[in-house]
Amino acid sequence: MPPTPDPTPAALPPTLPAPTPGRTLLVLGHGSHLNADSARAVHAHARTLQGAGFDEVLTGFWKEEPSLRQVLRTARYREVTVLPAFISEGYFTEEVIPRELGLRHQGRVPDGGVTETVAGRTVHYLRPYGIHAAMTGVLLDRAREVCPTWTPERTALVVLGHGTRRNPRSKEAIEAAARRAGATGLFAHAAALYLDEPPHAADWREHTGGLDVIMVPFFASEGWHTLDTMPAELGLSGPVSHLDGRVVSYARPVGTHPAVGSVLTRLVQEAPARPAPVAADHAAAWAALATAAEGGLDVGELRVTPQPDGTFALHHAADAGAPGLTRVPLDDLATWTGRDNQGEHRPIRTRRGLPRGWQARVPRDDLRAALHAVYPAVTEEAHAWDAGKLPVTPWADTAARQSGRYRPVRRATPETVQAARERLCAGCLRTPLWAGEPLAATFLSGGTGLPCAEACTLLVSDVAHLLEAPHP
Ligand code: SF4
Repeated sequence: MPPTPDPTPAALPPTLPAPTPGRTLLVLGHGSHLNADSARAVHAHARTLQGAGFDEVLTGFWKEEPSLRQVLRTARYREVTVLPAFISEGYFTEEVIPRELGLRHQGRVPDGGVTETVAGRTVHYLRPYGIHAAMTGVLLDRAREVCPTWTPERTALVVLGHGTRRNPRSKEAIEAAARRAGATGLFAHAAALYLDEPPHAADWREHTGGLDVIMVPFFASEGWHTLDTMPAELGLSGPVSHLDGRVVSYARPVGTHPAVGSVLTRLVQEAPARPAPVAADHAAAWAALATAAEGGLDVGELRVTPQPDGTFALHHAADAGAPGLTRVPLDDLATWTGRDNQGEHRPIRTRRGLPRGWQARVPRDDLRAALHAVYPAVTEEAHAWDAGKLPVTPWADTAARQSGRYRPVRRATPETVQAARERLCAGCLRTPLWAGEPLAATFLSGGTGLPCAEACTLLVSDVAHLLEAPHP
């Protein structure tokens, strides 16, 4: 787990040293509103990168929390390296992520990355790992897993990508991987095929002659596409299918292979980050949380209670005094609280539905990690709101910067946005400041409020759906 912050200098006894300078690594992924599969690989990468020399490693997501808009605020240090855990360059790595992080840079990221100052932090934004030449070895490992031996003259390799018409460069990493694998001489032919653009995966027969075929999804994670969409498009019945008299082997995605860890480690260690002091806003927020927790604290549906031995107990507020609560280790807390009691994925953690029946016990130094696991970014944003330093983004501005499949929300009427608010925000513990709702005091300043400074992607997505098919 990431190390926890020390209190602010003002809260420290005079004999304690100032916090040591350090570096934060942010590993960013797509995430999903629907299931936890997509984020799983990103969390695994972050665990691997704990040993890469950074003082803390955090994650952030497009469709989950902490969101790309929130995540920089959760970084403890003023020096932040950002690694997009994406398989190819293109729409997300060159447009969406830089824009949402607040970088001025748009477009191709040069070798060595882009360095900018955002929200008081020096941000080193890197290229995605999928473009690294070492991914060819990972690709071949995946092929060998599903098909331990093959005859090169009788076997074709198909590298499967998602593809998108929104950015022609998203194909480059997949094409390069197919080219490099083909150059090994291990296959009679190597081709790159796509789900969403030509040449289409569904036409694989046209691109492989009468050869046996090994297909490897060049995807960052296991999920809907690799488990459902792709096998259905390809007409496969399992890892090994017999089709038209030939053997077709379908591998697991490259992004979940353990060897990706060494590719990631090499990438982030080449980044130019130097240790820097703790960010003042971050230190102040967590000092305020620690002080408030000493008297017992409710944060949303979570209750934090100081214990006589100096630790803190965390559980659902409605479980106070309940017997038989399951003890959850700190390392499992994010996963445990990422589903509700019906097992449904909770991409926006502050929507009601924190599961019941568990408890965690953490020392004071781990309070930050525990709160971050249950309600990421909430403490930093609440403290900023109380200090008058949380910028609020009105709906019109959020809508105006949407692109791709969310671009249509620019034409949403106030009534449509209101309908989405009633469907989603009504079940959320945050106060939608972006819609003009008032919030007097947060849980850090004597109230119970949790600020929402701008519409989350779940709400944006709901507005888009309402435009496509208005609900009755
Ligand atoms: Fe919650 Fe609504 Fe804010 Fe989304 S937009 S985080 S649902 S208050």
